[in-house]
Amino acid sequence: MESQDLLQQFASDNYAGICPEAWEAMQAANPGHVTSYGDDPWTARAADAFRELFETDCEVFFVFNGTAANSLALASLCQSYHGVICSEAAHVETDECGAPEFFSNGSKLLVASGPDGKLTPQAIRELATKRQDIHYPKARAVTITQATEMGRVYTPPELHAIAEECRALKLSLYMDGARFANACASLGCSPAEITWKAGVDVLGFGGTKNGMAAGEAVLFFERKLAADFDYRCKQAGQLASKMRFLSAPWVGMLESGAWLRNARHANECARYAAERIAQIPGVRIAQPVEANSVFLHAEAALLDGLRQRGWHFYTFIGGAARFMFAWDTDRERVEIFCRDLEECARTAAGA
Ligand SMILES: *Cc1c(COP(=O)(O)O)cnc(C)c1O
Repeated sequence: MESQDLLQQFASDNYAGICPEAWEAMQAANPGHVTSYGDDPWTARAADAFRELFETDCEVFFVFNGTAANSLALASLCQSYHGVICSEAAHVETDECGAPEFFSNGSKLLVASGPDGKLTPQAIRELATKRQDIHYPKARAVTITQATEMGRVYTPPELHAIAEECRALKLSLYMDGARFANACASLGCSPAEITWKAGVDVLGFGGTKNGMAAGEAVLFFERKLAADFDYRCKQAGQLASKMRFLSAPWVGMLESGAWLRNARHANECARYAAERIAQIPGVRIAQPVEANSVFLHAEAALLDGLRQRGWHFYTFIGGAARFMFAWDTDRERVEIFCRDLEECARTAAGA
């Protein structure tokens, strides 16, 4: 592999490796034999660490990735004839290849539009009450992403208002927390404040983008909703037989506080990059920077210049160029990126 390939990119936060705390916990879990399929001390300790962090006696499950967490959690909230309300930017809608519909045997996603990936109580009410007849799926659940796919964060009052609307309409509330840690770091809120205390029933807490190799935790705050979820995981191929290697990294992340440190660092790097980028003529920041992403608008020639300098990034999300800052972002790489962007802007302007 050429050294060029090892340089940090800001295309996605899942380009990064495994953080030391997760790695060391994997290593600590390795010696000896323990019971399989989750009946082991590491899995019990990780579940307890979640209960302590969230200050509640929730049900905790460990799955391999976010698509599984989202799909299986939503499937557990719905019958096949139900509908799930989400934003048009939601990962469940745009990036999961129909998995939520597949695992629920057909629950249809009901999509609301909006500029920042957020749902509002009004949008939820409109979709839930749009049709009352038997020919249209019956809305049964709502999924919101925290932080959103556009790097925005729901505040506690926004969450409370959404949950209140959900209760009034008899809808369960799921949170896709692939970047939940970034939202906690951004808001300075406790995990409890922006989940069950705000009315969230089920959370998918992302470990992968937070610094683990793989794995998301599914937390049921409303415990009865977790009935048979273990069978659902097994059937979907999401029950790890050597479960300790999915759960031990969480022990490392949660007990050391790395989950929050990693997210804070990522958010700070995004904010710093955005401040620099905002000074560059010809480049416009497309979304307020509230988590670990920076979206920017620039002319095609400028973006091509960046690509020619070896930078990877996506432009199909949110109609802008997206840059994501991971737990391990090197500030010097951010500097180099900003300088390259400045030079590309000058070249594109013909200066
Ligand atoms: C990354 C991500 C996921 C999880 O994706 P997987 O590739 O299935 O792990 C889920 N939701 C959001 C918003 C994401 O950004």
